[in-house]
Amino acid sequence: ELCVGCGICVKKCPFEALDIIQLPEELDTPVTRYGPNAFVLYGLPQPVAGKVTGMLGPNGIGKSTAVKILSGQMKPNLGIFDHEVEWAEILKHYAGTELLDYLKQVAAKTIKASIKPQYIDFIPKAFKGTVRSLLEQNDERKKLDYYAKELALDTILDKDLTYLSGGELQRVALTVALSKEANFYFLDEVTPFLDIYQRMTAARLIRELASEHPVILVEHDIAILDMVAETVHIGYGKPSAFGIISRPKGVRVGVNQYLEGFVAEENVRIRDYPVLFETRSHESDVDRETLMTIPKMTKSFPGFDLTVDGGEVRRGEVLGIVGANGIGKSTFAKLLAGVETPDGGKKFDTVRVSYKPQYVTADSSDSVEFTLRSATRRFDTSYYQHEILEPLGLMPILQSEVKNLSGGELQRVAIALCLSREADLYILDEPSAHLDVEQRLVTTKVIKRAAEDKGAGIMVIDHDMYTIDMISERLLVFDGVPGKEGTARGPFEMKDGMNMFLSNLGITFRRDKTGRPRINNPGSYLDREQKAAGEYYYYN
Ligand code: ADP
Ligand code: ADP
Ligand code: MG
Repeated sequence: ELCVGCGICVKKCPFEALDIIQLPEELDTPVTRYGPNAFVLYGLPQPVAGKVTGMLGPNGIGKSTAVKILSGQMKPNLGIFDHEVEWAEILKHYAGTELLDYLKQVAAKTIKASIKPQYIDFIPKAFKGTVRSLLEQNDERKKLDYYAKELALDTILDKDLTYLSGGELQRVALTVALSKEANFYFLDEVTPFLDIYQRMTAARLIRELASEHPVILVEHDIAILDMVAETVHIGYGKPSAFGIISRPKGVRVGVNQYLEGFVAEENVRIRDYPVLFETRSHESDVDRETLMTIPKMTKSFPGFDLTVDGGEVRRGEVLGIVGANGIGKSTFAKLLAGVETPDGGKKFDTVRVSYKPQYVTADSSDSVEFTLRSATRRFDTSYYQHEILEPLGLMPILQSEVKNLSGGELQRVAIALCLSREADLYILDEPSAHLDVEQRLVTTKVIKRAAEDKGAGIMVIDHDMYTIDMISERLLVFDGVPGKEGTARGPFEMKDGMNMFLSNLGITFRRDKTGRPRINNPGSYLDREQKAAGEYYYYN
């Protein structure tokens, strides 16, 4: 006899993992279950014409399963296995709900969906040819020229897909999805490897599309999701065991409930601590010792010049690094790591650097455990277990082969590997990519503690403003012209650094009642007022 709460356990109910005070109505009947003891999904997101509907929640909670159902790729079974469930039975179950009309179309097979998958590295394997040929083949809405211009793909149209960077491939994948003619669009993460400017452009194009067709967007960059979506569904539960998709909520309320860790209407606590944005947490610790001095230096490639102003890095601090793509951040990291030689100087070798590159790939059949053991002698210590393996969620995948990991799993292994090496300076390039919000939070804590414990300096390059806000004590700011010239300025105190960075971009953030930063509509009253006052980020 299976438990009536979740329907998957016998004795110990996994719902105990959540503090559910009152079971939401949706939990009476599952939407679908993969097998008598397999993953079970409750609740579906609601595609709404003319709107971007957001989905927030961890990986493994059933978002893709929901989309397979909404796009007609999979018929739900309502958790029933003793007979084949016909569409008539399913529609009867949804009678009187807002989903009924939509599901009728799915049943009648009149829904055509366009999907941007979460992981895009398979695209060059599945499609041989140039960017242009892929885009032309999918250009059902005749938007190629427009999207190519808006997403700055002009210069790569004749490149072979094999040679694209992750950020280029992401913009190509988005263009493919937006260009198809469909009556339901599902975009599973659009921001990894894009800089904030490209993220804002993607957000604008998605909104434009949504004015004509329903779009569902899964996104872990909350500042962007907040800007593009009108409503959100919160996904919660126990990854791989069961997932619950909440009713839709207004985006401000939904995001705040998610960050607070309490889904109010459903009366469910999904996390026992809130995510807070506090200006005061950035007051940098003046007692910190100097770890190293970054020298003034320059580095030129044909067509690109980097200038580094130079400054001090302190022991135990996390420095955020912000700046557009192609502005020299990776080159800067390579100079510090002694991989590249500055112009007219010698290789920098005063500190040992451990570096996590932006694009993490793996083709090794070594296990995760073997890989990490080769980097540290402390693998068996309780410190390593409690500060690295457990918080980064690596225990369940220690025996997996590195080459079989998902993008999010690989990212967490790469972060662990970087922090495992003995070094004075740790540089992590876009650690947030492919991590869900919970994982970003935990990773932030792991990185901050590692800096303190090791008395090391840690630099984190990232484009997710919430990650940068949570992780940084001070900020290095790159400005210039992407692909042409860049200057590394700072480190600055957070307020000065954010003002410099955002004024270059022309973006301002306001604070809502909880203190959470939200991107202002360009040209809105607050946007103009804050620009006039020179207060781009810390403004109440
Ligand atoms: P998300 O998109 O939120 O990451 P998915 O919908 O892809 O989540 O998967 C949710 C859970 O369902 C996962 O634990 C996954 O292993 C399981 N699952 C997905 N497809 C199948 C399948 N065909 N058979 C059994 N289990 C599956
Ligand atoms: P970011 O990390 O900020 O995206 P990068 O440091 O990777 O920027 O690149 C900055 C610029 O330098 C780009 O225009 C890039 O094409 C160029 N560049 C980087 N490395 C080399 C190299 N080894 N040879 C020539 N050009 C390079
Ligand atoms: Mg880079």
